[in-house]
Amino acid sequence: MEGEAVSGAQLIAQALRAQNIEYMFGIVGIPVTEIAIAAQAVGIKYVGMRNEQAACYAASAVGYLTGRPGVCLVVSGPGFLHVLGGMANATINCWPLIVIGGSSDRNQETMGAFQEFPQVEAGRLYNKLSVRPSSLEVIPAVIEKAVRTSMYGRPGSCYIDIPGDFVNLQVNKSSVKYVECCLPPPISMAEHSAVSKAASVIALSKQPLLIIGKGAAYSRAENNIRKLVDLCGLPFLPTPMAKGVVPDNHPNCVAAARSMALLHADVIILLGARLNWILHFGLPPRYRQDVKVIQIDICAEELGNNVRPAATLLGDIKAVTEQLLEEFNKRSWKYPSNSEWWQKLREKIKNNEERSKGLALQKSLPMNYYTVFHHIRELIPKDCILVSEGANTMDIGRTMLPNFFPRQRLDAGTFGTMGVGLGFAIAAAMVARDHTPGKRVVCIEGDSAFGFSGMEVETICRYNLPILIIVVNNNGIYTGLDANSWEEMLKFGDPAACVPPVSLLPNAHYEKIMSTFGGKGYFVKTPEELQSALKASVTDKQTPSLINVMIDPQSERKKQEFPWLTRSNL
Ligand code: ADP
Ligand code: MG
Repeated sequence: MEGEAVSGAQLIAQALRAQNIEYMFGIVGIPVTEIAIAAQAVGIKYVGMRNEQAACYAASAVGYLTGRPGVCLVVSGPGFLHVLGGMANATINCWPLIVIGGSSDRNQETMGAFQEFPQVEAGRLYNKLSVRPSSLEVIPAVIEKAVRTSMYGRPGSCYIDIPGDFVNLQVNKSSVKYVECCLPPPISMAEHSAVSKAASVIALSKQPLLIIGKGAAYSRAENNIRKLVDLCGLPFLPTPMAKGVVPDNHPNCVAAARSMALLHADVIILLGARLNWILHFGLPPRYRQDVKVIQIDICAEELGNNVRPAATLLGDIKAVTEQLLEEFNKRSWKYPSNSEWWQKLREKIKNNEERSKGLALQKSLPMNYYTVFHHIRELIPKDCILVSEGANTMDIGRTMLPNFFPRQRLDAGTFGTMGVGLGFAIAAAMVARDHTPGKRVVCIEGDSAFGFSGMEVETICRYNLPILIIVVNNNGIYTGLDANSWEEMLKFGDPAACVPPVSLLPNAHYEKIMSTFGGKGYFVKTPEELQSALKASVTDKQTPSLINVMIDPQSERKKQEFPWLTRSNL
């Protein structure tokens, strides 16, 4: 070949680099191994994971944390199928993501090729864009379009299919059109009349409530939102991943009176949050019939979902909150801090906080969730990135563990996906290492949630990421059995016939997975053991660690003498 030749793998790597892609997560194999090698050669950090699903979750978290997509690299067929969950999770969370999948060679299509699967067609359901470049020469343009599409408008996942025979095929460099880095997403502002209408509705409210969603966190609008809260004196409620956009300890945060705030608000300002199941659809009985909703979102199709809004502000939250600030500066309106609404909210907050304080201080063993979270809260760094998943572990953890900074809470999200935790933690630790050195990642997992991607502990140790994993272990999903009940239960015969479907093995030593790979593992049963394991893990800033905290398997549930006997078939 005349002139300088370049392979498909090199082209892909260079095109990704040209789009400022920093991180790639994946599992190599035929036909994508060369792509990972080429990516490293151009300066993209490659993290080899143990399961494609976790790799995809990791890549999607990079998108949320940095505003630029991470890449997930997978092999054809099964490798591709294992990331359907990750692509769906990213798109449903509105996070940018690029997935690159190897696929069968072009001249073997429909012949029953190795791991052949209709990947582009399958990808359409989960992605904003699902494409297969038609030649090597167009790869840079396809990659630019995918990166741009993943970030523009409502962010989401994009899939690029690479025929296996492209990877080592060579073309003359001069025939490839290199495409420059796409421009940052254009910033749109709301219509003037909509801004003044929204301000009028807010100014007439008796019981206003600002709801901050993860779209607000993604748009990096924290400074404006903080100013808006202070300027207008508005009570605010963060959704789970929007915690920290305004610090949880801000006096206007009414998270501890959530149900009441939703139920009685007469005007709700929605900043980048959908009225989906997380917000009970915006409908009675969780809301007033006559609640006036002001929606602010970048996605026009979202406006009007489930309720008829009183005002719709279509635009980027950072820009629109700037507009609202200008408008309220002109009006110099402030919601009175001595209103009846504020009094009611404050009273409720006080009651609820006292209730969980009571549970946290209980001395009985095994510990309950509240006691565990109380000690975690006291001892982990205030500015750590918190990853959280599990049923009770995530729900109770959300109320007990404050966030003080934006984009520092990652959890099961809109899709309620379990198994995201370790991938998210790995991504957060990679990004922290490069961009905010010294910032710790604390990953708090239920024992069931941990199991989905537990082998990623090897990945954590291989890349020497000083993540602190805390497994809140109740021997099961929602609830479990203690060791004695377990023994009793097994007397009933075949375990598959009598082990409750929610149960996992009692006293499983998950911490040994960490020590096996060179990290530190702790098995703790008492508050004192928990405190000393936490202190040791926080002080050691180099070594990954896992604290396996045994709690009451029936915590949060009324005690029953023989829990399995209540099942109808026994
Ligand atoms: P939460 O789970 O916190 O309630 P959702 O994921 O339901 O949040 O909603 C996030 C919303 O934010 C989506 O409707 C999305 O379109 C919107 N969004 C994302 N980025 C921006 C942005 N830059 N400006 C405005 N809205 C945005
Ligand atoms: Mg559990």
